[in-house]
Amino acid sequence: MSEFSLIDTWFQSLGQHRSDVTLGVGDDAAIVDVPTGKQLLISVDTLISGVHFPEHTKPEDIAWKALAVNLSDMAAMGADPNWFTLALTLPESNDAWLKEFSAGLQRIAARYGVQLVGGDTTKGPLSITLQIHGSVDRGQALRRDGARPGDLIYVSGSLGDAGLGLLGLQGELTLPKPDLDPLLDRLNRPTPRVELGKSLSPIASAAIDLSDGLAQDLGHILDKSHVGATLYADKLPLSDITRKWLNLAGGIHLPLNAGDDYELCFTIPEHKQGELEQVLAGQAVPCAWIGTIDQEPGLRCITDEGIETLSSTGYQHF
Ligand code: ADP
Ligand code: MG
Repeated sequence: MSEFSLIDTWFQSLGQHRSDVTLGVGDDAAIVDVPTGKQLLISVDTLISGVHFPEHTKPEDIAWKALAVNLSDMAAMGADPNWFTLALTLPESNDAWLKEFSAGLQRIAARYGVQLVGGDTTKGPLSITLQIHGSVDRGQALRRDGARPGDLIYVSGSLGDAGLGLLGLQGELTLPKPDLDPLLDRLNRPTPRVELGKSLSPIASAAIDLSDGLAQDLGHILDKSHVGATLYADKLPLSDITRKWLNLAGGIHLPLNAGDDYELCFTIPEHKQGELEQVLAGQAVPCAWIGTIDQEPGLRCITDEGIETLSSTGYQHF
């Protein structure tokens, strides 16, 4: 299949058909309408075979994760995801692979109401670069630099599931299938917390999505906001499966440092706790209070054994 029939067949009309797209795939650039009073948010992420997903990951899971991690960035900004572009590098034009990849991408794009508006297709080692564009009311985006001493720190969902799944996948822990399967689902098909992020935008003082582990990602909030924090180990939210395997999987360092959770970590001023509870009552995902922002720099965790000073030991590429 030629490059152009490949694009026509698998990527011509993908995702939700949006009325704010004047021109999608097929010209030198896409044309979209940004509503008056809104700001445009742009984010890009690359997934490389063997680095971000094991070589034999199902194409639909790769597609899911490629868009999910970008949607998660929009969630972390409190933004509405709207459009995306896809730069795809393929070792060969494999119809069976492309069919599953495009179907997987269609599923998640339709679910979150985003439309594919362009891209690029090249030959080489498998890599997927996806750029997402979102919008938010002017001045309302959630950023990393707004946390203040006394603010309360929360995370959504549960921590460490994807990291535990990876340990199982790599054979470092032998997990029974009923435990491993839901963990691999968390690893391969993260749930971007888009609705939660949008609802937090009037309340939260800072937010980030957890891709590289809580300690490292919260560390970014602390750096940008020029503050420190204290966490409480017994408050870190764990799924039943992860709680069961926690001791064998590195104890509290799993939820603190394992990546790929794609949960949101956010801070709120203490006086907005009531407002937050109201917002959370309408959300599908629970959020847990895990600690407090301090004036004193650094990240501390209070465990049964005392106070532990944490370094950022999450995933780093270099
Ligand atoms: P150009 O030569 O102007 O860079 P291309 O030939 O690369 O354009 O692409 C033709 C059209 O197909 C463009 O509208 C581009 O955005 C779109 N496109 C190319 N690859 C993809 C892809 N993987 N997914 C979606 N759209 C794509
Ligand atoms: Mg061109």
